[in-house]
Amino acid sequence: MKKCSKCGVDKDESEFSKDKTRADGMYPVCKQCCKIYQKSYYANNKEKNAEKCKKYRENNKETIIKKRKEYRVKNKEKIDEKNKEHYLKNRERYLEYKKEWRTNNRDKMLKKEKTWRENNKEHISTYLKEYRIQHHEEVIAQDREKYIRTKDEQGLYKKEYYEQNKEKFAEMYKKYYKQNKEKIREYQKIYYLKHKEEINQRNREYRKRKNEDSLFGIAPDSILHMGDNNGNELSR
Ligand SMILES: [Zn+2]
Repeated sequence: MKKCSKCGVDKDESEFSKDKTRADGMYPVCKQCCKIYQKSYYANNKEKNAEKCKKYRENNKETIIKKRKEYRVKNKEKIDEKNKEHYLKNRERYLEYKKEWRTNNRDKMLKKEKTWRENNKEHISTYLKEYRIQHHEEVIAQDREKYIRTKDEQGLYKKEYYEQNKEKFAEMYKKYYKQNKEKIREYQKIYYLKHKEEINQRNREYRKRKNEDSLFGIAPDSILHMGDNNGNELSR
């Protein structure tokens, strides 16, 4: 047992801090009294302390930054581990917060993303290129699917549009034909000369089918055939 020089209470030796400079190896004031003193000292000198800290920070900006950086480098693994642990522990809260923030700052986010994309054009294009190389087959399959889908959609749209405007198209074509008769005939001639064999072959088949099937040829696609309506070859 030892008597505290401050509160005068007899206390167990474990209640006193060690102090090698003293004869009995113990600090004369008990731990509790020390604590009270420290607390009151801190409270009484709060402003003075804050001022002192602020001044120190201002005068040692570079040293502090350097020391902080050194600490981070030296303890990187420990810090990463701690951050990860903290994140996992509070994951739900973080995700919730993130979601809320995104909703509240949508315009800001979009603007930020746009700016980022504009500032990182090269970086993005390099990344995309690399991604395409690394995920070659996947990307090709995706592209193909997209291409087929777009083609189908466009084809459907075109067909629908044509069906809805059939008369307009027919009128347009008629007008165009009238105005460009000479040009069209010239073009047809050139086309025929270039594809003579194919056209003659087609016409031969057409004639044959027409002979075999009495209803064949009534369909409007016969208009597309070169030659006259009887399927005779165009002669030069
Ligand atoms: Zn005491």
